[in-house]
Amino acid sequence: MGKEDNIYKNPVEIAPNIWWVGYVLPDDPFQCHVYLIENGENSVLIDPGSKLTWEVTRKKISRVIPLKNIKYIICHHQDPDITSCVSDLLNEIGTKDRYIVTHWRSATLLKHYNWGIDFYEVDQNGWVLNAGGREIEFVFTPYMHFAGNICSFDKRSKILFSSDIFGAFTETFRLFADDPKKYFEQMKLFHTHYMPSREIVNHGLDMIEEKNPQLIAPQHGSIISKKMIPYLISRLRKLDVGIYLQFRGYRNVQRLTKANEILSKIFEQISFTTTSVYEKIGTVMMLMNELFALERVICLSSVDGRVVVFDSFIERPKEIPFLEKDLFELVEKILAMEGKSFYVREIADINLHNEYLAFPFVTYNEHHSINGICYFLFSKDEIISEEDKEILKNFKKLFSVMLMKEIEYFRIQKERNELLHKVITDSLTKLYNRYYLEEIASKEFNKAKRHGYPLSVVMVDIDNFKDINDTFGHDVGDLVLKDFARILQNNLRESDILFRYGGEEFLILMPFSVKKDAKKVIERIRKVLSERGGLKVADKTIYYTFSAGISQYDNERSIIELIKRADIKLYMAKQKGKNRTQL
Ligand code: GH3
Ligand code: MG
Ligand code: MG
Repeated sequence: MGKEDNIYKNPVEIAPNIWWVGYVLPDDPFQCHVYLIENGENSVLIDPGSKLTWEVTRKKISRVIPLKNIKYIICHHQDPDITSCVSDLLNEIGTKDRYIVTHWRSATLLKHYNWGIDFYEVDQNGWVLNAGGREIEFVFTPYMHFAGNICSFDKRSKILFSSDIFGAFTETFRLFADDPKKYFEQMKLFHTHYMPSREIVNHGLDMIEEKNPQLIAPQHGSIISKKMIPYLISRLRKLDVGIYLQFRGYRNVQRLTKANEILSKIFEQISFTTTSVYEKIGTVMMLMNELFALERVICLSSVDGRVVVFDSFIERPKEIPFLEKDLFELVEKILAMEGKSFYVREIADINLHNEYLAFPFVTYNEHHSINGICYFLFSKDEIISEEDKEILKNFKKLFSVMLMKEIEYFRIQKERNELLHKVITDSLTKLYNRYYLEEIASKEFNKAKRHGYPLSVVMVDIDNFKDINDTFGHDVGDLVLKDFARILQNNLRESDILFRYGGEEFLILMPFSVKKDAKKVIERIRKVLSERGGLKVADKTIYYTFSAGISQYDNERSIIELIKRADIKLYMAKQKGKNRTQL
């Protein structure tokens, strides 16, 4: 500290007649400042300090005013670092015509010191004190952090004096904050665990903002200049506070604050983004890695008899039939396939395995059976303390919500796909229907046109189908349609797309095929059909043939023209005696 140390050996006049008379506690991030408003025999001492600081504070006051000039002793609340030196002060100056200025809630506690001094309760006096012509107003900021907490506002200098609000943990002593961002980081720790809720903080800040302070002089931390105030207030308003509500028994405030930040980011991810669980897990892992060496996340959700696996080690979610008795066994199997032994059943406990530390989360469905588990797998070198487990338990809730949401999403997706499938499928033959042809045919046409690869269209029609219906009945006709559809389907290539075009007419889109190749495919089918030797229905055998017309893309303007040309070719095949393919 050196030079600065010297500065702080003296009282510092922070505004005309307003003095900092604190003591720099060596190596203590929890500095306790004391302020003096010099006003003759009506001088005011603000948050006098503790037994540790009094000796120095006393000396500093004496350099500014005779001690006995202190008439008003403001105590913003009753904590020992504010009030434990009061008895020493009063022993020296007496109690006659002097007042402890505080809120009634603090007065009811402070009276137990039995100082024998009168209380000036600000709430009983219109929240104002007239100290020999100097008006000091009081701002009620309850629960920040004490129920009867107040701040003082000196009207002349427009300085707001506060006990906890705007306080900070400062590693190195600094009477005046210089970097707002840095100071906010120091304030953050202080406020997240001192202040119980965001509503309370915002209420207090509303009250303070009404005063429009020019300077804020907190009891802990550093003094804040006017230009830093709006920034700090806006950040404070959004701060997640009340972290002790979430983490019981946790003492590392810094880690706690970090955990809390990560929790709210994860919450945002889960609630307000539409990304898949897979992407979410990626983000969550990244965030979690700020706290733990998290290596891998595996989530399993059971949905309608199938299990969806989200594993940060594999590219995309995969679905597997749910054959195992429970999801735990499944995780063991997944990892066993990689040669890793794994066995974790205890919920919310951390177990060491040969590769990982595992922390399982479980979600239950409405019947209270497990419908999702999520494993956090930490590097086995990670040391996870009992306190860390507390943190992890908080993540558990979020992960349960995420899994539940995802299971629901997956189910909806599945229903949607099934519905879509119904809409585009012909119910008799299970082939794509004409509706779907209209959906994709022009896309295929445009792709072929743009990339310059061939596209053939084949129209296929069963010969004399009307006779089959007339001879064997409509039901048998249906069986023939199904039979033919199956034969077509089984003998086409992967890239060919087959549709039921109408009654006994079928259409095949053959991307990447010139018409000659298309014909080869069709003639092979003709061979398969004839070699099969008829469809057996009960005691009858039904023989049938088909005709086909093929067109190949040749600068037609639309797929409709191309289909029309295939249809004409089909007509020609019929004209030429059926059971043939016309190019
Ligand atoms: P061509 O060789 O010239 O194609 O003669 P065709 O008898 O096959 O053709 P036509 O168009 O004269 O008759 C087709 C018949 O197919 C008429 C219709 O009743 C029948 N049909 C259409 N859809 C179905 C169906 O879903 N099931 C059955 N069983 N018959 C159908
Ligand atoms: Mg026909
Ligand atoms: Mg026909």
